[in-house]
Amino acid sequence: MLTRDERKDCCDRIERLIDEGYPIFNLRSAFPYIIDNSFKTPCHQCIVMENGRQWTCGRCIEIPNLCSQCGFFFAAEFSLVFSGHAGVIFDMLRTYLRYI
Ligand code: SF4
Repeated sequence: MLTRDERKDCCDRIERLIDEGYPIFNLRSAFPYIIDNSFKTPCHQCIVMENGRQWTCGRCIEIPNLCSQCGFFFAAEFSLVFSGHAGVIFDMLRTYLRYI
């Protein structure tokens, strides 16, 4: 869980590191949606497996109302990609292909 200000601070810091050339997989195009928590939650295509258990989206899905303050950037990015957000899909391909 992160507040809006904390999410904005994280995005600003990551953006600075991207601009400095660090190999970062986070998607800049998703940051406005992450800051405003304006993506579909939970992300049903995001699967977490640990110790023989499997969760849809993060391991936090059972905590009531947590999704409204989601601080799991990966879940937001995958939610936007699987919602068909063209800008984020393009950004994901460009970013991932740069490092894979
Ligand atoms: S809080 Fe975030 S990571 Fe956790 S279930 Fe909700 S959308 Fe997924």
